[in-house]
Amino acid sequence: MTTVRTRFAPSPTGYMHIGGMRTALFNWLWARHNNGVFILRVDDTDRERNVEEALGPILQAFKWLGLDWDEGPEVGGPHGPYFQSERDDLYKAGVEKLLAEGKAYHDYDTPEQIKADREEAQKEKKQYINIRRSLELTEETRKQYEDEGRPSVVRFLIPRDQKVEINDEVRGHVEWDAGLISDPVIQRTDGSCLYNFATVVDDASMNITHVIRAEEHLSNTPTQVLLHQALGNTLPTFAHIPFVTAPGTTKKLSKRDLSKYKNNPNFKKMFDRADQVFPLIGLGDSETLNPVMVEYYERIGYLPAAVLNSLSRTGWSLDDKTEILSLDTVVKNFTLDRVVKNPAGLDPDKLFSFQGHWMGELSLDEKIDGCLPYLLKAGILNEAEAVSKRAFVGQVVESLGDRLKLFADILDVAYFFQDEIEYSEKDFKKRVAKEGVPELLTTYRERVAALDEFNAEQLEALLKGLCEEKEVSGGLLIHGLRISTTGSPVGPGLYDCLLLVGKENVLKRIDTAVARANSM
Ligand code: GLU
Repeated sequence: MTTVRTRFAPSPTGYMHIGGMRTALFNWLWARHNNGVFILRVDDTDRERNVEEALGPILQAFKWLGLDWDEGPEVGGPHGPYFQSERDDLYKAGVEKLLAEGKAYHDYDTPEQIKADREEAQKEKKQYINIRRSLELTEETRKQYEDEGRPSVVRFLIPRDQKVEINDEVRGHVEWDAGLISDPVIQRTDGSCLYNFATVVDDASMNITHVIRAEEHLSNTPTQVLLHQALGNTLPTFAHIPFVTAPGTTKKLSKRDLSKYKNNPNFKKMFDRADQVFPLIGLGDSETLNPVMVEYYERIGYLPAAVLNSLSRTGWSLDDKTEILSLDTVVKNFTLDRVVKNPAGLDPDKLFSFQGHWMGELSLDEKIDGCLPYLLKAGILNEAEAVSKRAFVGQVVESLGDRLKLFADILDVAYFFQDEIEYSEKDFKKRVAKEGVPELLTTYRERVAALDEFNAEQLEALLKGLCEEKEVSGGLLIHGLRISTTGSPVGPGLYDCLLLVGKENVLKRIDTAVARANSM
């Protein structure tokens, strides 16, 4: 039986697109499901960029998600090199073979001639198909052109008298009329080869059995099929998967539309969170890292399991109801026939709920390990404190319970680790600097100071007793206390907060808050 070999062929763009990651995941899943081989190949024919730098975030995305590759950058393999920029010799040999067999030709047409042909076709309302003028040249003229040093490209001679057919694993039977396909340039005047050709050479020489890629490449497929046939290659099986759409839309998720996403009700929360969190940890804001990029999810504290759960279900499903899926379960069950044909939307709310589930599966130690980097990067703890205060971080994490959804959420309760707290101005005015509250807080403070045991039961009994005595609602004191002692409306239950802040600090913080309220 042939071994299943899939590949993901990213261009080094400097970031990993979350939709691209879904394509990569489906390739990885299909390889793993079949005990096959998954290959990473770098489409770096655009040599303008610094490839290493631009590839870094892409490889990091795979590493973070735990998607390993069997052949490719860093690991090598028997079919290398795995960078298109280093495979020129193979492409050139392919071009020579096609030229020698009369399946490709030098085209001496100038850009002006081609432009005129296009305009002519447009005028006649016909689809433009290149005119094979260079095929008609006499040997003499051709020689003359060569002697003059006239530039030429190499075009593949499309066998136009046939249909091209594939059975796509997702889209089913697809056919094209080769008579409508222009002869594609496979080699530029400078000798470099183009994507459509390089991809065919690579897929064949790497024995790729399944080309699983985004549906926008379906239009390249007839040309690639004809090239495979001309080169005498075994055809891979194609599976064109639907693109990932922006939440609640039918449009492909794209970095170009970022400004729109900030107002998309399904997406906004993710951008807002980036703008809250990233500045605190020195990572810019949603302009630099946004949810189109895989790095966003890593840096804001999503779990790989949650992102994989969500991506697996973007365009694929196990059945109609199973939502929570471990990667193992998906590997076991992944088949291409369950990939949908329609665009599949990224669903931030679903992802968030998966995150809640997978966070719940973590041990306390794993949660602490996930939170500590945030406290360190935000300068809330130093390296030594990260060790000495580990148990305390654990207590804070436990008190948050399932309120801790993203690791970055630990920054919402920075007040447990800081000497000076920052008040949310709005909440301070509403909850502390309010008629009767400073007096109530002062009395509560005095009674707390006199407590011989500082525990939740005592603190609660005190609070209830005082509110009954003064005939005010418990909420008045509860909210006042929370804002006075933490500065923030967000956090664990009030008594957990007070215990974590500690008796001495509770007294001190109430004093500060009351003085502040009285001076307003
Ligand atoms: N570099 C291409 C892309 O990023 C690869 C396309 C393919 O898989 O053939 O879209």
